[in-house]
Amino acid sequence: MKTMSPFALTLLVFTALFPAFAHGQSDTIYLNGKIYTVNEAQPWAEAVAIKDGKFVAVGSNADVKKHNTDTTKVIDLGGKFVMPGMIDVHTHVLATSVDKANLFIEDPNSKEAMLEQIKTFAEANPELPYIRGLQWNLGVFENNSPRKEWLDAIVPDRPVYIYSQTGHEAWVNSKALELAKLEGRKQDNLYIWDVDEKTGEPSGTIKEYTMSLLEQALEPTVPGKLAPELAKLVETFSAAGFTSFKEAGAEVWTVTAANILDRKGELNARVFPAWFHLGHIGAMTREESKAVAADWKKYKTPMVYPRYIKMYADGSPSSHSSLLFEDYADRQGFKGSISFPYDLYVEDFCYFNKLGLGMLVHAFGDGSGGKMIEAFEEMRRLNGDNGIPLHYSHSVMTSKKQLERLSKISDISVDFLTLQYQHPAVTANFQPAIGEERYQQWLNAKHAAEIGIPYGFGGDWPSAILPVPNGFYEMQAFVTRKNPYDPGLPSLNVEQALTLEQAVYGYTLGGAHNLGFDWPEKLGSIKEGKLADLIVLDRDIFEIPIDELHLTQVEHTVVNGRIVFDRDEKEAQLEIVDVEITNKELDNAVDAADLNLLVEDELDRVSRGCLGESVSHDIHPGAPTTPEAITLAFGTLSEKGYRYARPAREIYWENTDSNYWIQWTIKDDVDILFAYDPDGQKVVEVLRVREKPATNN
Ligand SMILES: [Zn+2]
Repeated sequence: MKTMSPFALTLLVFTALFPAFAHGQSDTIYLNGKIYTVNEAQPWAEAVAIKDGKFVAVGSNADVKKHNTDTTKVIDLGGKFVMPGMIDVHTHVLATSVDKANLFIEDPNSKEAMLEQIKTFAEANPELPYIRGLQWNLGVFENNSPRKEWLDAIVPDRPVYIYSQTGHEAWVNSKALELAKLEGRKQDNLYIWDVDEKTGEPSGTIKEYTMSLLEQALEPTVPGKLAPELAKLVETFSAAGFTSFKEAGAEVWTVTAANILDRKGELNARVFPAWFHLGHIGAMTREESKAVAADWKKYKTPMVYPRYIKMYADGSPSSHSSLLFEDYADRQGFKGSISFPYDLYVEDFCYFNKLGLGMLVHAFGDGSGGKMIEAFEEMRRLNGDNGIPLHYSHSVMTSKKQLERLSKISDISVDFLTLQYQHPAVTANFQPAIGEERYQQWLNAKHAAEIGIPYGFGGDWPSAILPVPNGFYEMQAFVTRKNPYDPGLPSLNVEQALTLEQAVYGYTLGGAHNLGFDWPEKLGSIKEGKLADLIVLDRDIFEIPIDELHLTQVEHTVVNGRIVFDRDEKEAQLEIVDVEITNKELDNAVDAADLNLLVEDELDRVSRGCLGESVSHDIHPGAPTTPEAITLAFGTLSEKGYRYARPAREIYWENTDSNYWIQWTIKDDVDILFAYDPDGQKVVEVLRVREKPATNN
């Protein structure tokens, strides 16, 4: 039986209160709200009426009540703040469902522990044609170069490949190496692998595009296996108030998984897949992705619109794999390069544009970005202004001049990667490579707003700072250009701080413009005729101090007029399984009360979506997990409800004051938090939470 939420009660009461009017009909009416519409012509409203998944009236209570009939559900917002559902234009949700459906290594901290887990998984899944796994941490193996023989010893008969935490290298066995067919191939800046010093043979670590050679030779994970994992990941986004996302790199089987969910009516967000073209972990060859794109309509279902292509201009300045205008700060005379020859970009942009597919291009370095701008311009000259959208993604080092040049290209939009503030891991990754001056000039979001180029935001989840998405945290950081959890850190390019309205635009109407085609007429604002996507928040984001914005919680998420997330209802489904201290030795090391405080404090901060300066976790690319590592984390969570904003992968963090580590593990669908002492001994079991088992009634 479904729990009756207070929300549902309000609904009953009001159905009785308002009799039918002869005006337009509606399915649902929301009254008494503070509705920020993101519609310039009517920025604020009190009420909306929804019919057949669209807004049919937006205005005062009196206006909207005219749409009430006997069958209309009337929902009293009680003065709550409402805004359009949010759009993230660069994520990897579909891709993460593949990770979740395969081996996840719970303890990646030693070679022995990892081998044990791989062996156990392989034995438990004899039917699998190969073992695909996540993830080994950088720093565990000498030179980050694990060996094939170690895997051969436990799984000799099937290919095994285990991605590293960055996804830019994989540990493989001999069977997998056979499939990658490296004999006779020469290494270059894309196809890279480690070799045995004595034999010259591949030694078991393959990098970048070499991984795609292997993936192309393997059967994909069955979409039916991915669908339930995808549903859970989408729920994380619903809980954070996202109603649409663009998948930056999709494959046939992941899109098919979304189609499967959609056909069952269980896909609770709009998905805009961009097909992987020449991706370093993509399984499609250049010709295959061209063929799939030509066939994109086959994969279109009501909530899935796979009309985009994702290409890489470059890697990242942090790994010196981007083209820069000026030399790298830490390598004199070296400027890097783009991933493929310039002419290939022009040729393939033209090909996909002619087919009517939008283009999403990952461009990190300013030099790489410059080449992509040229290629976009050349493509428009060759193909004409045909209305097919172009999406210049990340824009981290994109200069003001480049933004101006981009703004002159038709149907263009940019997204800003949510690295808009100083964070120890980000700074450590980028600042040495590009130097402080260029670092202080990145993410020129304000300039984009001023010159009127449409812009959205892309969290790049899960390879992001926050392991769970939190749009309010990101908006706060775009407004302050400071780390919301550590305001003591210096600001980053604060001259480019946005207003809150401009930040909201990036996640709403700006996102819709980024989707291009006719989506700006259908999404991104609360307006008559648009699709009824909205979110109800626990606070008025324009009334609170800006440094509290990241604490905002989403109470309800509505897609197509349907409630897809109700926080009260979700939290009522959770139970705390166990909260106990299991290791009394703790008393010797630290006062138990102190640790409890630490734990409570951490949980409390987790519940408000933060962990401050004292955080380390293992999913940020390049973030080491040593005790010295200080990186940051965490999205909208609450002690009871965090399960609905759980991270994609296991995480660790540490408190630098006490040197205690806390680990969040998800095992058998129970969320378990542990604390470790500085020697790595488990000292406290903090919390175990799971969804209540279903009862028959
Ligand atoms: Zn990405």
